[in-house]
Amino acid sequence: MLIDTYGRVATDLRVSLTDRCNLRCTYCMPEEGLAWLAKPELLTDDETVRLVRIAVTLLGVTEVRFTGGEPLLRRGLVDIVERCAALRADGADGARPRLSLTTNGIGLARSADALKAAGLDRVNVSLDTLRPDAFAALTRRRRHQDVLDGLAAARAAGLEPVKVNTVLMPGLNEDEAPDLLAWAVENGYELRFIEQMPLDAQHGWRRERMITAGDILTSLRTRFDLTPEPGPERGSAPAERWLVDGGPARVGVIGSVTRPFCAACDRTRLTADGQVRTCLFATEETDLRGALRSGAGDEEIAALWRRAMRGKKAGSGLDDPAFLQPRRPMSAIGG
Ligand code: SAM
Ligand code: SF4
Repeated sequence: MLIDTYGRVATDLRVSLTDRCNLRCTYCMPEEGLAWLAKPELLTDDETVRLVRIAVTLLGVTEVRFTGGEPLLRRGLVDIVERCAALRADGADGARPRLSLTTNGIGLARSADALKAAGLDRVNVSLDTLRPDAFAALTRRRRHQDVLDGLAAARAAGLEPVKVNTVLMPGLNEDEAPDLLAWAVENGYELRFIEQMPLDAQHGWRRERMITAGDILTSLRTRFDLTPEPGPERGSAPAERWLVDGGPARVGVIGSVTRPFCAACDRTRLTADGQVRTCLFATEETDLRGALRSGAGDEEIAALWRRAMRGKKAGSGLDDPAFLQPRRPMSAIGG
């Protein structure tokens, strides 16, 4: 197991497949610039699958989410998904990992069926606005319709539940929460708002300017009746979930900054260049690529990963006056 010194067990692996992207969201990347990882630095498809196999068969990982950068830009994605879907946990149940993808949706209309056939279970598509002009301002690209098409294709392919991730930004889409929720309910998507975090490459985040979970709930309640979703406590789920007008539709709010869920975190992360990160906000990484390429065996790599997790901090450190933004931006860590 991947267990840290606070007793948390990481069963959810986020795998970044590339740091590249075809959008330039204001809260993630600068308008221009930002050097990409060089090809030799990236894990190959075989190396990626080997590390996922070690995580699933030796370290108790049960959920694998592919992300980036934009994971649909990774040429070998369908093959990687297929090979990961064939993995089985060690032990009596021999379960296969649940596989999901976080994507900006561009190109998903073309690949949704192939991804489903390869064994992908679910997708999260990021969409911040229903207004094409606001989309262009937020992402600096005119690709709004591509994202809507990608979402529809994911639903048609059965990659369900299709979740939509939304970040609200002051002056751009902060007034859109109720419209987005009405649209998501109508289309059968599950909407989740994510608080903006200090992970942009250009270090433009300001706490006093962010739209908080509290602001989002206040805005939604102007049009909807929200009741906490019954069932188990929030646990390791980052989103607080609410039934919309009595259900069954739901909405999630991920208050990573103002309502952190670190105490129940069950995540471990692998960057596209083979570094383990124990947290989005970690300032240290553990190099598995070096071990892989110098001939380390599976057990040796698993031991390195276990050791890395023992160094996982209790929290993100966001409330510490000495907080330092990690060197890598979100696009290079894998969101
Ligand atoms: N490109 C894909 C996408 O946009 O879905 C996957 C990678 S992206 C880094 C993953 C998620 O992180 C997206 O939902 C995006 O909106 C979110 N994200 C990026 N930068 C963020 C930030 N500074 N604060 C909060 N969420 C952020
Ligand atoms: Fe690209 Fe996703 Fe970052 Fe937007 S949030 S720039 S789509 S990696």
